[in-house]
Amino acid sequence: MNSRRQFLQKLTASLITVPFLPLEDLSAPAGPDNTPYAGPVLRVAIMGLGGYANRVAEAMRACKKAKIAGVVSGTPAKITDWQTRFRIPDKNCYNYTNFDKMIDNPDIDAVYVITPNGLHHDHVIRAAKAGKHVICEKPMAVNAKEGQEMVDACKKANVQLLVGYRMHFEPKTLEIIRMRNAGEFGKVQFFQGLSGFVIGDPTQWRLNKQLAGGGAMMDIGIYSVNGMRYMLGEEPIWVTAEETKTDPVKFAVGVDETIQFQAGFPSGAIASCLSTYNMNFLDRFFLTGEKGFAELNPATGYGPILGRTNKGELSFLHVAHQTIQMEEMSDIILKGKQPIVPVNGEEAVKDLKIIDAIYKAAKEGKKILL
Ligand code: NDP
Repeated sequence: MNSRRQFLQKLTASLITVPFLPLEDLSAPAGPDNTPYAGPVLRVAIMGLGGYANRVAEAMRACKKAKIAGVVSGTPAKITDWQTRFRIPDKNCYNYTNFDKMIDNPDIDAVYVITPNGLHHDHVIRAAKAGKHVICEKPMAVNAKEGQEMVDACKKANVQLLVGYRMHFEPKTLEIIRMRNAGEFGKVQFFQGLSGFVIGDPTQWRLNKQLAGGGAMMDIGIYSVNGMRYMLGEEPIWVTAEETKTDPVKFAVGVDETIQFQAGFPSGAIASCLSTYNMNFLDRFFLTGEKGFAELNPATGYGPILGRTNKGELSFLHVAHQTIQMEEMSDIILKGKQPIVPVNGEEAVKDLKIIDAIYKAAKEGKKILL
């Protein structure tokens, strides 16, 4: 057995107490084993106590290497609720006006920014200036320029910047990457990424250009953008794109409803992807090479991820993605561990440059070289 597979099995085994979470239990974290952990613990303040923050926080209950130490919120009632649920002292509670004062709080190591996309730039830079490491949700910024400014600000403040790319720690995804690197699919030739769902409430921030930075591409299409890179293991050299809009009222100017995009890679491999807010049941990655194929379907949902290759089903056990992510991010920040697929700010800027190019290609109707 090679060391990557052993690593994955060890990682999964160390986090699992139940063999498989039933579908209705997807939000429940799998608990860690009872192995005592005596190492450093990452003390995290969660910023923006919305839907995804709650999912992350519940999954973190099973973490041994990371814990919730504080909150930043604009809603006092949520702060009270989180204080009770996660035993957070008053001195670790902040709002968006005063969180810069965290610079004087030695009990918080990192801020996890889970606010709307358009606010990440300001929130990340201020958290970095307060001397805290930052974990930021995807998309890290609304364009590559802002993303680079965030990377630069964190470097200047001498703090780490990581992005909530939870799939970079997902065992079936990593197994396919291992198989590809070992040449088990032969020369890889094609990737297909399908990312989409029908978005509801037309008044939500995800359909507001200023807060979302765009539309489906920023929110869900980014999974195919990021996925084509880690599945193929290369950086694209060109993109083309076509946009379709059936509802210009719900999807105003600058808020993309559906974009199909294609990309070419130095090896000659090509990718064809769909990003949409107007079709359901789209969460599939497919990779084919001269000797084999891999499929993830679902590929990026909260799990369980289902994976198979020409050699059969992949059978790693399911653990809440956010539990594994936060355990691994603790090791990255506190112990300098290098992840198999990067999760740093530079990695996010690569995605944002591609997204900028996709928008440009769709607008100009031309192939854009990267
Ligand atoms: P929600 O709308 O559920 O929560 C966002 C929270 O941000 C709000 O509850 C609020 O918390 C805070 N907030 C601050 N300013 C504003 C504002 N002007 N308008 C709205 N909310 C504001 O969004 P999600 O949790 O779904 O998404 C948050 C981020 O997480 C996004 O960047 C999204 O892309 C990402 N995400 C990532 C996922 C993943 O799988 N990696 C999955 C889902 C989302 P408060 O009241 O405490 O201030």
